[in-house]
Amino acid sequence: MANDDSGGGRFSDKLQVPEALTFDDVLLRPKESHVEPDEADLASRVSKHVELPVPVLSAAMDTVTEDEMAIAMARHGGLGVIHRNLDVDEVAAHVERVKRADELIIRDVVTATPDQTVLEVDEMMDAEGVNGAPVVDEDGTVLGIISGTDIRPYLEVGEQDSVREAMTEEVITARKDVTAREALELMYEHKIERVPIVDEGDQLIGLVTMQGILQRREYDNAARDEDGRLIAGAAVGPFELDRAIRADEAGADVLFIDCAHAHNRNVVDSAREIAEAVDADVVVGNIGTSEAAEALVDFADGLKVGIGPGSICTTRVVSGAGMPQITAVSQVADVAAEHDVPVIADGGIRYSGDAIKAIAAGADAVMLGSYFAGTDEAPGRVVTMQGKKYKQYRGMGSVGAMQSGDAQRYLKEEDEDEEYVPEGVEAATPYKGSLRSELHQLVGGMQSGMGYVGAATISEFKERSEFVRVSAAGQTESHAHDVLITDEAPNYKPDGS
Ligand code: 5GP
Repeated sequence: MANDDSGGGRFSDKLQVPEALTFDDVLLRPKESHVEPDEADLASRVSKHVELPVPVLSAAMDTVTEDEMAIAMARHGGLGVIHRNLDVDEVAAHVERVKRADELIIRDVVTATPDQTVLEVDEMMDAEGVNGAPVVDEDGTVLGIISGTDIRPYLEVGEQDSVREAMTEEVITARKDVTAREALELMYEHKIERVPIVDEGDQLIGLVTMQGILQRREYDNAARDEDGRLIAGAAVGPFELDRAIRADEAGADVLFIDCAHAHNRNVVDSAREIAEAVDADVVVGNIGTSEAAEALVDFADGLKVGIGPGSICTTRVVSGAGMPQITAVSQVADVAAEHDVPVIADGGIRYSGDAIKAIAAGADAVMLGSYFAGTDEAPGRVVTMQGKKYKQYRGMGSVGAMQSGDAQRYLKEEDEDEEYVPEGVEAATPYKGSLRSELHQLVGGMQSGMGYVGAATISEFKERSEFVRVSAAGQTESHAHDVLITDEAPNYKPDGS
């Protein structure tokens, strides 16, 4: 009776049940180590063709990931997955903003024309928040460049003079294959702060600025594509081919088929169709068994695991179905490893220790919702209740989230009376400040786990790590106990909140 398709047998045989474990049931067995935690390299694949310096994803939820979160995640080496409670056009716009955020070459350039007055251009630059603009004719051919310094009053340029009179005509330009270093060298050599990028006919393609280059340098561990743009992810419903195509065209690197139960024949067929239609990698989820993995490995670029572990999720109590997460990840990973398909552990991660345990169980990357929902970069505002600050966090299967989008994730029809059968709750989560420090704690804790096991890389860690089973008494011992906590640690709350 243990397998999906077996029939017959005695009902009482069903009670010969296999055990399934989750995060608190296990601990990593410490081993001799020559690896200092800071040296542990977390780089890992999230899908067949996308590697991340930090294998951490922010969940595709409307209280977790839109463009702001996705930009911040990618700048710090991870990946944000834009949720799907947005119009298709809005998703495309969010993806485009992520892809453009740290682009070396700015494509949306603010330009001036030679016949504008100095005053007009000054006002325009003020309004656009830029300090200079290439001057172009109707064909987009670069004629000059005008900057704040060209129009300062002490240069005796009148407000009504034309840009033609005030601009610098000798423009230093570069071609679109220019590197950040080459652009910077040009800027130092010619004492300029921006270099227009032009094609063979001197027509403007974009602009490289000193400010942009310096900003990119701040994020030296960012997750970037081969053109240096930030990596972006987007969620699509299991039957949303149009959304998948739009997000793909907008430049998403990874699409996530977002379904609560992807081991469903219709979902598998539709996901396969989507994977064939797009260039982006397609991660399919969620699943929780080896049979589900078998059904997907021939076309999925990644598998996402999690049936009911999420903090805001009530699937297991509402439906009676689910798989404790450590066992689910290991079952899927056994199959995925044979086909070289990366696995993402999604949901239920409260502490950095949970994240690295998920990787020991076979995951290549982890996805978190509640952990990030309280940060500045998550959508929604901070509210104060009884003197404490919170942000809203709700399940995508909660009544509120389904009213704002649809119930496709839960394979339910649109409900005209909106009498949904929810599989999630609406909640509040403590406000946490910037994503940067939350991610820093998560990454630092994961590296510590690698240090205890003596693994310098994720693949070494997956091989070397072993679990021990923890008793209820052992779990109590694991947490701070027999003390009254006086100063909160930045990475620990007794109830995981
Ligand atoms: P968390 O990190 O908060 O424990 O879990 C986040 C994950 O929970 C999401 O990435 C998603 O897979 C899952 N999830 C989000 N909303 C819901 C919901 O309403 N119901 C269920 N069953 N899962 C949800």
